[in-house]
Amino acid sequence: MKTIAVLNLKGGVGKTTISVNLSAALAELGNRVLLVDIDPQNDLTQFLGLDPARVKGVGYLLTADLPFRSLVRRHKNKFDFLPAGKKLKELELSLSRFYRKDRGFSLLLKKAFQRSKLDYDFIIFDCPPYVGLLNYNVLTYVENVILPTQCQYLSFEGSRRTVFFVHKIKALYNRNLKISAVVPTMYDARNKVSRYAVDRLRKTFNGKLSRTIIRVNVSLAEAPAFGKTIFEYKPKSRGAKDFWDLAHELLVKL
Ligand code: ADP
Ligand code: MG
Repeated sequence: MKTIAVLNLKGGVGKTTISVNLSAALAELGNRVLLVDIDPQNDLTQFLGLDPARVKGVGYLLTADLPFRSLVRRHKNKFDFLPAGKKLKELELSLSRFYRKDRGFSLLLKKAFQRSKLDYDFIIFDCPPYVGLLNYNVLTYVENVILPTQCQYLSFEGSRRTVFFVHKIKALYNRNLKISAVVPTMYDARNKVSRYAVDRLRKTFNGKLSRTIIRVNVSLAEAPAFGKTIFEYKPKSRGAKDFWDLAHELLVKL
């Protein structure tokens, strides 16, 4: 079982887009995939057609109020999906108070997932864009981080902070944790800044930079409005091709 956090401490860089379309691509390739929305903003949960104010999600698993099987859903018979759902932000805030006294509160997710005896090829987390207890929990559990980086000048600082954060959690809680791929997103070949950004990423991250670059593609931005992955919405688009390539690359790399 491969566990992946899609993480960047900056918002709007393509985390949710990568989480859902990478999950879809891996599922198309015959893998059993669980996609988890652990961002209290519930973007992914809404993307997949659920009302965050009404749905119970991952928070209820963390507190052991409900078992995994009563919370998980299936997206069009392709991959499983655990929504963020209601009360997740409140839960994070209240757990943070306890965490100051007891560091064990970063282990809730790991314990809940182990208790649930999950059987998947991939578990993929769409993470929130800030340092907080939910990300502590995800990074204590997973082995791989995928770090999407927007091909823009100002995105470097966010990526650097994210790397620093990952190394901190690795040292504290999870020796197996590693950044497995830095994925350039929203690449626009007509734009000089995009080309400059990829050059700089290559110099900074070296072998960790993915071969696959996710290009700007309007179909990727439109698909959520229809509650569809790129493969359901526009299977012949550039976006679909890029995610197909990324899935193949990661199957070898992880
Ligand atoms: P995050 O989860 O990091 O906040 P999102 O995946 O929600 O980022 O992406 C931010 C916005 O950019 C969304 O409106 C999304 O549809 C759009 N977007 C993401 N990737 C692409 C892309 N490759 N091409 C065009 N638009 C994109
Ligand atoms: Mg998001």
